[in-house]
Amino acid sequence: MHIVLTCDFINKSIYFIKCENEGVVVSILDIKKYPEEVLLHKSEFVKEIKKQEKKLFDDMVETMISANGLGLAAPQIGESCQIFVVGLEDRIIKIANPKIIDVIGRETMPEGCLSIPDYSADIERFYGVVVQGVNEEGELIKIEAKGLLARIFQHEIDHLNGKLIINHKI
Ligand SMILES: [Zn+2]
Repeated sequence: MHIVLTCDFINKSIYFIKCENEGVVVSILDIKKYPEEVLLHKSEFVKEIKKQEKKLFDDMVETMISANGLGLAAPQIGESCQIFVVGLEDRIIKIANPKIIDVIGRETMPEGCLSIPDYSADIERFYGVVVQGVNEEGELIKIEAKGLLARIFQHEIDHLNGKLIINHKI
């Protein structure tokens, strides 16, 4: 069942899809494409994880999965706040206010972005990072990541700083 509604927080038309079996409502959001303004600016710090932020996390996960993405940052769905989600090997990670607190090594690999269709570029990034942030329960978390997961973290954190793969320098 598809119903088009507007939601104050998201402030745009979105599609609500009712999952009959689970009885929950998730939203597939519209992914913003370069050069939309919201992609080009630093996002705002999230002061508290409340109901709205939890819904945003869940909607972003659904949107990421439906777009076959490995990660999605809030500016990509038009919200200028420091939130991103990652989906890799059956693991879903939701982080607000992420900060890289340690790094190791370098690696160059081709990378794409849901906001820049049909484009990929070799991007040099840190091979490993330790990211600190807040989870959907509002708890402080620290995640050590290497390889692809570390790369996705850096890509999404770049989004929160208004930085895209087309203008990338490590
Ligand atoms: Zn991207």
